[in-house]
Amino acid sequence: MDSPKIRTKSEFAEQAASLFRKLPSIDELLRQPEMAALVASDGHSAVADAARSVLGALRQEISAGHLDAAGVHLALTGLGAAVERHLRQTLGYSLRPVINATGVILHTNLGRAPLSAAALENIRDDAGTYSNLEFNVEAGERGKRDVHVDRLFARLLAGASVAAPVATIVVNNNAAAVFLALNTLAEGYEVIVSRGELVEIGGSFRIPDVMAKSHAVLREVGTTNRTRIADYERAIGERTRLLLRVHRSNFQITGFTEQPALEDLVALGRSHGIPVMEDLGSGALLDLRSVGVEGEPGVSESLAAGVDILTYSGDKLLGGPQAGVISGRKDLVARIRSNPLFRALRVDKLTYAALEATLLAYLRQDYDAIPALRMMRLSLEEIARRAEAVARSLRSSGSGLQSEMIAGESVIGGGAAPASTLPTRLLALSLAGLSAEELASRLRLNHPPIIARVEEDRVLIDLRTVFPGQDEVVVEALVRIAGS
Ligand SMILES: *Cc1c(COP(=O)(O)O)cnc(C)c1O
Repeated sequence: MDSPKIRTKSEFAEQAASLFRKLPSIDELLRQPEMAALVASDGHSAVADAARSVLGALRQEISAGHLDAAGVHLALTGLGAAVERHLRQTLGYSLRPVINATGVILHTNLGRAPLSAAALENIRDDAGTYSNLEFNVEAGERGKRDVHVDRLFARLLAGASVAAPVATIVVNNNAAAVFLALNTLAEGYEVIVSRGELVEIGGSFRIPDVMAKSHAVLREVGTTNRTRIADYERAIGERTRLLLRVHRSNFQITGFTEQPALEDLVALGRSHGIPVMEDLGSGALLDLRSVGVEGEPGVSESLAAGVDILTYSGDKLLGGPQAGVISGRKDLVARIRSNPLFRALRVDKLTYAALEATLLAYLRQDYDAIPALRMMRLSLEEIARRAEAVARSLRSSGSGLQSEMIAGESVIGGGAAPASTLPTRLLALSLAGLSAEELASRLRLNHPPIIARVEEDRVLIDLRTVFPGQDEVVVEALVRIAGS
């Protein structure tokens, strides 16, 4: 391609003007036969928008001096294809599935808990038509949206609670649950919390900030590493309305540490007539000891310890949709429910549909129906068998990919303690001539994107978080990348 030999500004402007004249108008472009099919399938307005963007980009290229006559000619022959590409991008989904090969089961960046098949089915059944969301069908009158899941939480938590029965309401997420509970129970009054529990979760949820916004007054006690029951006791005064315990979701304090037992905090609260609230964060309904994870507090355990109000997420260890769950003493939950802010934080029928289906799986003890729980319960043998099969496919493809199966750890994530890991088998991959970072980047550019870990210049694939039906997709992507 010969480059334009332009010396003066005016020559440049003249050249650009002559190139602009070669561009069709939007109307001319839309009248071309190949555009007709696009207009028929995607509508005149969307195609016109795409044509405008493509022509606009061409004009910019010309103005910047990046295109000469030959370049413009070439661009014009590909105009139809460019409009179609632009259209596909605009009309395609931005939110889309990815394959999570990181081994982090509840990965906040990747949408936390995948929903169960039953939850998806129930969303489709309930949300694609009218429902009894707030309608009592028997009585023919207005009902409450809370009832659909309150009944299930009541059953699931019945065994745990000494102060029976437990009431439960649902809001947008756990941050909303904490905010609403604090605002209802302690607006303008003091909440006592240990300095070791003033946590920040995910950058934007900080207990002191949420407290301030709820207009509750933070009363810090103890030190970062040690807080005794006597510290709480000394801080109790006329303005105390709540004792708050916050789960240290994303960090550990080890060494010279002390934290009063939940039972002692409850006893102290009782003796002063002050309720105890616990922000559990993860809120496991399944005892994680069954998958070999110790020390992760469950909802039932906290209720059994006598905690009056509990808040936890729907999409962490519970394995359901994004939601904030508030369970506890009926009178307190009723007060929280009647806060006018509840209306601003309540959830849609989609959430109730997904949550109800998820909770029903718990009632049936069908834990493998819930993807996050199934992934936690996957045996090492099963993961190793699948990893071996993937490695075999890679070898027989002649792709040149080096793969080795190594021992590693999957992370539960999502507010389970950082030490809550599960032993796994990883596929460690490398390809001559390509760095691990580059291989991982190409995996991310796959359709669907595959997200993997990189360690010591190898790409690590943990099949624990890959759905079995996706193993084949991973193999195909790797073979394609290695072959290109
Ligand atoms: C995760 C977490 C939150 C925030 O929950 P969201 O559902 O993300 O709003 C609050 N507190 C604790 C202790 C958590 O672990």
